[in-house]
Amino acid sequence: MPTTVRAAVCRAFGEPLRIEQLTLADPGPGEVRVRLSAVAICHSDISYADGEWGGELPAVWGHEATGVIAAVGDGVGFDVGERVVVTLIRSCGECHHCQRGAEVTCPTTFPLDETSPLTDADGRPVGHGMRTAAFADEVVVHASQIVPIDGDVPDASAALLACGVITGVGAVLNTAAVEPASSVVVLGCGGVGLNVVQGAALAKAATIIAVDVQPAKLDLAIHLGATHAHDLTDGPVDSLVHELTDGMLADYVFVATGAPSALAGATDLVGTMGAIVIVGMPATGVSGVFDPGSLAGQNQRILGSKMGTSVIARDIPALVQRYQDGGLELDGLVSHTFPLDEINEAMDEVRSGTALRNVIVFDTD
Ligand SMILES: [Zn+2]
Ligand SMILES: [Zn+2]
Repeated sequence: MPTTVRAAVCRAFGEPLRIEQLTLADPGPGEVRVRLSAVAICHSDISYADGEWGGELPAVWGHEATGVIAAVGDGVGFDVGERVVVTLIRSCGECHHCQRGAEVTCPTTFPLDETSPLTDADGRPVGHGMRTAAFADEVVVHASQIVPIDGDVPDASAALLACGVITGVGAVLNTAAVEPASSVVVLGCGGVGLNVVQGAALAKAATIIAVDVQPAKLDLAIHLGATHAHDLTDGPVDSLVHELTDGMLADYVFVATGAPSALAGATDLVGTMGAIVIVGMPATGVSGVFDPGSLAGQNQRILGSKMGTSVIARDIPALVQRYQDGGLELDGLVSHTFPLDEINEAMDEVRSGTALRNVIVFDTD
């Protein structure tokens, strides 16, 4: 029997989401239904809701969630009652990309890509935003999108593992494979950039220079392991990078902001044999300029990192272990929690920069 869910629906870009009752189809073969306990608000949700990336409406966003399996379709190797993290990474496990460890770029089309499991009160389809539609108290997703988690991780903290944390930490440990004693610059200390800082600390980078325009984010970056913090409103970071690397410039520059100026400035911060890693998703149409002669002459690389090149079944349990060992901060990344009815307030705080990661918590009784 299909389930009725309460969801925050986007019916017009740039307008507040509306709480509606929707019908959620049963999980098909290979799919699961998860009763959510928490969903974090990511900048991508806001970009979609504001219309920056287009897409069809109505739709439900939300893709950074945790909950408990409520029903399983045929052929699913998980059990009802298992606690899981729910991500937007849907993969077949068999294609060329999956076999190369890049399940984040799996091109396989799934039934959920073609037919949304959500319909509104008039029986019309509602988009399954970011393959998850987690601004709702229950979701139906493909089983490849969930990872069971053990241990004592609070719901709001566990939700962050679905996107911001794996994107930031994974960019360092998977995409760039930063070596111990490296020098690292992190441009942008939002939800992803702060996790790049955490990743660089886990990789035992010797110098981690966090750059942002908001003192509160820079303070948090220092708490998370940055060795230096630079407020861009005080001027460019170039001379500090020069000084801290004895003029060699950085081994790794992570661009964790969509600001085009960060991309342009990154080439002046990266040293010989260095790499620029593009982590944030810039708005459609943003382009960058680089000097190919300089790139070749100095043996430099430019790397793109989607979702931290994460392999979720491998990486999420490892991150839970690091959290329990005290090496990974999650709780301190949660700014505030809200009920679903207050999702527009929660999104406004993230939009305005007064909150870093707001999390919607559901009444699971
Ligand atoms: Zn996200
Ligand atoms: Zn695949």
